[in-house]
Amino acid sequence: MKIKSIEVGKLTIPLKKPFKTALRVLAVSETLVIKLNTDEGLVGYGAASPTAVITGDTMGSIRGALAEALIPQLVGMDVMNYEALIAKVNSGVVRNSSTRAALDMAIYDLVGKMYGVPVYRMLGGHKDRFETDITVSVNSPEEMSADAKGYISDGFTTLKMKVGVGADIDILRVKAVRDAVGPDIKIRLDANQGWNAKEAVRVIRKMEDMGLDIELVEQPVKYHDFEGLKFVTDNVMTPVLADESVFSPEDALRIINMRAADIINIKLMKAGGIHNALKINAMAESAGIECMVGCMIENKIGIAAASHFAAAKKNVTRMDLDAPFLLAAEPVEGGISFDGPMIVLSEHPGLGIVKVNDLEILS
Ligand SMILES: [Mg+2]
Repeated sequence: MKIKSIEVGKLTIPLKKPFKTALRVLAVSETLVIKLNTDEGLVGYGAASPTAVITGDTMGSIRGALAEALIPQLVGMDVMNYEALIAKVNSGVVRNSSTRAALDMAIYDLVGKMYGVPVYRMLGGHKDRFETDITVSVNSPEEMSADAKGYISDGFTTLKMKVGVGADIDILRVKAVRDAVGPDIKIRLDANQGWNAKEAVRVIRKMEDMGLDIELVEQPVKYHDFEGLKFVTDNVMTPVLADESVFSPEDALRIINMRAADIINIKLMKAGGIHNALKINAMAESAGIECMVGCMIENKIGIAAASHFAAAKKNVTRMDLDAPFLLAAEPVEGGISFDGPMIVLSEHPGLGIVKVNDLEILS
């Protein structure tokens, strides 16, 4: 089965409420959708979410990398030999991880369809549903408490609070949310690189002393500060999770060798897709390090791909795949469904995408 053509389109979806982190504010989700058309009529779906402040990818750079570097090399290749196909995706352009992720997931979608099995079963089928956390954007302590209570009443039991905007007010934010939701709700923090190493140790130790019961702290320091990340990991009891510091399997190897973090957050948009995510997870598992699977503000194709990977693997013990809950509309049919805070995998072959509505075809 050969790749005949690759179509590119755009999905624009408003958010229910602006998404605010230490790095950015976002009101509308703009994502790119690709369709791999084959000579046997099967279509593979993939998606890229441009997150310039994290991956460096923009809508224009993704379209450019596809049109100028990747599509010309992939058309005509055989899907049966998907190792070679994915190798071509990863060698055809450096960086551009979101672009490579979109193609990689579309290839896995096609391979699943070719064998007639859902991708998560093809990769291991460890579970067929899981609970995701939900993100509380960084705002005033009062607004974050109100948002947190709203999510609890929607059925969520794990909150991911965005912090990293002022160390001392961060402590007040966490205290306010803990007081508002009570002791039984899990609270994880994401500083999105907003602290320096010593500040992070001071803030996390203070929260430990206050008994705020934080499950983990994600990316306390700048992405390139591996030594700082290790300093934090070595000096607090709360587990530290590497996010922006780990894009590729090579980054993961370095973090593992240094023991710079306790947990690794894998996102397809950073890793360049499922193939590299599998490598990161296998290395981490071998080193006794668990993984979380996270996401950008993605459409449901990207979240379905991340969910299929996350569900397949035993070592993926935490899920942060809340983007569909933050969007005000859902143009993508199939892939995954929702049961309160649970994400339920589809038994359709591949990623299970049925239809993409409101797609603006670009090329
Ligand atoms: Mg993060």
